[in-house]
Amino acid sequence: MIAELICVGTELLMGQILNTNAHFIAKELAPSGIDMYHQIVVGDNPKRLTEVVNTALSRADVVLLSGGLGPTDDDLTKETVAKAMGKDLVLFEDEWKKILSYFESKGRTVAPNNKKQAMFPHDAIILKNPNGTAPGCIMEAGGKAAILMPGPPRELRPMFLDYVLPYLLEKSGHRLYSREIRIFGMGESDVTYRLDDLIKHQTNPTIAPYAKTGEVTLRVTARCTDEAEGEALVAPMIDQIRATIGDVVYDTNGRELSEVCHYAMIESGKTLAVAESCTGGRLADAFIDWPGSSAYFIEGDVTYSNDAKMRRLGVRKETLDTVGAVSEECAREMAEGARKAANADYALSTTGYAGPDGGEPGKPTGTVFIALASEEGTIVKRLNLFGDRDRIRHTATLNALDLLRRNICTK
Ligand code: ATP
Ligand code: MG
Repeated sequence: MIAELICVGTELLMGQILNTNAHFIAKELAPSGIDMYHQIVVGDNPKRLTEVVNTALSRADVVLLSGGLGPTDDDLTKETVAKAMGKDLVLFEDEWKKILSYFESKGRTVAPNNKKQAMFPHDAIILKNPNGTAPGCIMEAGGKAAILMPGPPRELRPMFLDYVLPYLLEKSGHRLYSREIRIFGMGESDVTYRLDDLIKHQTNPTIAPYAKTGEVTLRVTARCTDEAEGEALVAPMIDQIRATIGDVVYDTNGRELSEVCHYAMIESGKTLAVAESCTGGRLADAFIDWPGSSAYFIEGDVTYSNDAKMRRLGVRKETLDTVGAVSEECAREMAEGARKAANADYALSTTGYAGPDGGEPGKPTGTVFIALASEEGTIVKRLNLFGDRDRIRHTATLNALDLLRRNICTK
């Protein structure tokens, strides 16, 4: 099956917005086995839009369109495509009522030209848009289909994943099966460099990397006839990826790092306390966010001042006077003090310079020490993090979770 993509919008042609919809759709379509040979960008002009729609319909089975479903005069995708497919638009009362109640729920008044967003060919398949007013639609004629989606990415993305992709898979007779490999402690470029061979030669399954602050996810997707065949295709690829990049892989079923730690703690039957300075409660929150954390989480101290570090955790005055609060010694004493105070099996601590100001010679902003105390002793790690205050606090939290994960997960 051949698909073609038409992104409508003069703003795209003028370079005012980046065509992220094309990137998104292409990336999501890649594993499906549906071929895309052309992508077109065209302005809000009925004549030129008609031309490209006719061309696309002549050489593709399915034409995907993004943009131009709004209420204004320059939003003309639906009218133009319907005409090219020889269809008239009629008012869908149900859709019109939904638009009215959407406006009502937002406390906005509806304009008369919003009515055109509820007009479709009588035999169109309507695609729901819970994130905006313009529903999408599928128009079918002569064995071909045109699929119209709204331009705003937060409306288009869920519509594509929830309705369009399943429609395309059904039409092409394919199924997709995916698993997500979660990685912490290796950047996206390093991951893709090491997996270059696998990624280059991918056909089925495919490997798609996604980066998020401090973390990388690889989605491995197989085209298959059922789940069992999908798993049979995906599992060896996951094993190969694991063997190549090693223990930076913390999960192969799409779970969060905090979730992996949470379940590992429950399974271990052990207890945990945390003592935080620069992460200011985020580490405690990472555990308490998960229901059932009371099984192991005893307490969290946010000891931000030197005085609190001494009073609550027993950090020595001498440590603070000589090497300071941002030091290996302080992190160690915080973790050991928290473990003792809570009578816990494990205790994690964080202390560092989150910036933007501060730091000291040899310990610039982003210098963070984390520690894990347990009956086996105390492990301290120095981190050299970068970014703004929020990013440093976030990645310090992830590092502390990863330190725990590496010590309690035997998988
Ligand atoms: P609206 O109801 O908001 O007018 P629409 O379906 O008519 O939606 P457009 O008017 O074409 O869509 O675009 C609306 C906005 O969506 C643009 O201003 C832009 O921010 C975003 N957008 C449109 N097309 C794309 C694209 N291809 N990639 C990324 N963003 C896009
Ligand atoms: Mg518009």
